[in-house]
Amino acid sequence: MRFYLIDPKDHRYSNYIFYLLSDDDYLVLRESYRHLQCQVCKKIDEIAALQLPLEPDVQIQGRFDLNQTSDGMYHCNDRVKKIVEDNGISGIRFIELPGKEDCYVMVPTVEVLVDRSQPGHKYNEPKCPNCGRYREVFGFARLSPLSLPEDPMVIFTPEIWLEDSRGKNAVLLVSQQVMQIMKVQKVSGIMFSELAQSWPEG
Ligand SMILES: [Zn+2]
Repeated sequence: MRFYLIDPKDHRYSNYIFYLLSDDDYLVLRESYRHLQCQVCKKIDEIAALQLPLEPDVQIQGRFDLNQTSDGMYHCNDRVKKIVEDNGISGIRFIELPGKEDCYVMVPTVEVLVDRSQPGHKYNEPKCPNCGRYREVFGFARLSPLSLPEDPMVIFTPEIWLEDSRGKNAVLLVSQQVMQIMKVQKVSGIMFSELAQSWPEG
């Protein structure tokens, strides 16, 4: 079976759900998440943050059907939610944006294990002495280290997310079947990048 990364296209908006952008373009963590912030590296526990209600004034601009916020979380509109539900695709919890009917943050609920003994993710030091997170995680794993789901009708996520100096960026993966459903429906805002089986020899 072939698998694909849901790869967001660039857009001109800076959408954040966990942060506010100050007038001088600084990222300010929203009040609701202060208790989740590491006092040393200033990152927050994004997984715990997604369990909390969104703040009422969160706004997501842009007209794509599916995309990623600047703080790394996927969002979609009613059309995508309906495509997912009508086709029996599992693996996503939709959090409606307060006061906006046509916009949802997509929280992956099916997490697959990553075999860390195989080549894959790369980690940039330093590692935070307080929370233990690396400054950056990159170099997306190939298929071979992932415990892939047997049911193809699912959107899933590896247990290791990519990470930059601000924090984690969610990773959504789909089977060829799910990719084709989204392509036929012309879901905008994303591309599909096929995942190679393993790293080239040598
Ligand atoms: Zn830390």
